[in-house]
Amino acid sequence: MPQGQVPTVERTLVLLKPDAVVRGVAGKIITRFEDAALKIIGVKMRQMDADLARRHYFDLEERLGSEVYDLTATFMRQGPVIAMVLEGFDAVATVRKIVGSTYPDEAAAGTIRGDLSHYSRSASAATGKAVANLVHASGNKEEAAHEVDLWFDEGELHDYRTLTETFTY
Ligand code: ADP
Repeated sequence: MPQGQVPTVERTLVLLKPDAVVRGVAGKIITRFEDAALKIIGVKMRQMDADLARRHYFDLEERLGSEVYDLTATFMRQGPVIAMVLEGFDAVATVRKIVGSTYPDEAAAGTIRGDLSHYSRSASAATGKAVANLVHASGNKEEAAHEVDLWFDEGELHDYRTLTETFTY
């Protein structure tokens, strides 16, 4: 990056899905984001209802079909989720990299889905359930803006400086 050019600070939405909550790996997952110096600026636990599922996955039916949409919406409503807004340099792409590919069996080792998921695409096909892959993360900047707005009011997002931010780079 040319000297003097400021890298982009972005906000992105992360959901720890119901499987992450019931498996008790929320702390491990959050640690991975903190280790990458991503800053939590908002967090809440919430039970999704049909309306929120529809608004959150508004394009899933069109992209992957009604069966995948129904399975996913049912799965996401199985228990509470932990929603977080993370902030940092190029946060949208960075978080997706840390989370890994959609299907845990294809997700690289070292990613959250690759290391911690108990599920696979074929397990999903065999059981007729959604792919339980622990985490949702916004796919791009437009999706991130929409999702942060959907899940959080501006007053629920916090402005503070981390210890590392008090140093200049
Ligand atoms: P990602 O969550 O990686 O952005 P998508 O937006 O394509 O992936 O899919 C949303 C969610 O739908 C996935 O995370 C997964 O839980 C579920 N899902 C995707 N594909 C399938 C499938 N073929 N069968 C069952 N569930 C699926």
